[in-house]
Amino acid sequence: MELLSCPQCAQVVYFDNDVCLSCNTRLAFDPGPLAMVKADVDAVMCKNASNHSVCNWTALPDSSFCLACNANKTIPDLSAHGNLSRWRAMEQAKRRLYYSLRELGLVEVSAQPFPERAPPLRFQFLGATANRPVTTGHEDGLITIDIAEAEDAERERRRDALGEDYRTPLGHLRHETGHYFWLLLVDSVNQHDGFRAIFGDERQDYSKALKHHYEKGPRADRQDCYITAYASAHPHEDWAETFAHYLHIYDTMMTAQEIGFIPLVELDGQTLVEMWIPLSVRLNLLNRSMGVRDLYPFVLTKPVRDKLIYVHEAIQRSR
Ligand SMILES: [Zn+2]
Ligand SMILES: [Zn+2]
Ligand SMILES: [Zn+2]
Repeated sequence: MELLSCPQCAQVVYFDNDVCLSCNTRLAFDPGPLAMVKADVDAVMCKNASNHSVCNWTALPDSSFCLACNANKTIPDLSAHGNLSRWRAMEQAKRRLYYSLRELGLVEVSAQPFPERAPPLRFQFLGATANRPVTTGHEDGLITIDIAEAEDAERERRRDALGEDYRTPLGHLRHETGHYFWLLLVDSVNQHDGFRAIFGDERQDYSKALKHHYEKGPRADRQDCYITAYASAHPHEDWAETFAHYLHIYDTMMTAQEIGFIPLVELDGQTLVEMWIPLSVRLNLLNRSMGVRDLYPFVLTKPVRDKLIYVHEAIQRSR
């Protein structure tokens, strides 16, 4: 992500800021130019900013919502205690997701008028109730998110129970969006042969594969060929996990270039992955100095690097 600055005093500000802490100017992020503007002076704010303080983006010209909030199909029941803050954390992560989708040209790809190929991307944020559990997932362009994942204690409990190395709201959103973009970047453009050569045949029985994964554990070649244990469950999950990691790496590399941690070079797939490995090791060392968990607790083996490069190239092809 690029460094953002206050349009009034040029002080560096964070992506989520809605006020400049240096000059008190009210800020809004405009996803068109990917820049901060003066709220309500330069542009109208998203309705979710004024109504619920869950957004700091400017509204689309033809909607009362911003680009990210406009994709919401369902928001949580805000009369339930705690749901507003859970939803706010999810929207914060979703805007970061959308920043990368805008940068990569994927917002445009998903807006192309080919409804016969894929439905529009929509989100529903739900809180579980006694008689209605919520399962995070993707189906036909609709991403469902269990907002309990916005709570640190609950998410950490689930991460530990599942033996995962990393679990965040942003990770969920990037993973589920990956399933959606498989429809656009692989399926609808008939890239099945190339996909299967790298990820395996996605036509194998999904529920059987998932059942096997949860009962018998990950595949024996998990360490050598897959970014996470879950990726080894089925080619669709491998793609979604790899797509999420591509976005993790891409966004962090963009930020690293912006702040001078790595040189500004053209990032093709190979370069992106090759430069990421030493950078992620250095970032892990910084985290260890602070006594916190590794920033990137993953190993990129050759098959995993090839999958990341495949995702990069599939995105480039679509532009
Ligand atoms: Zn300022
Ligand atoms: Zn919004
Ligand atoms: Zn998935």
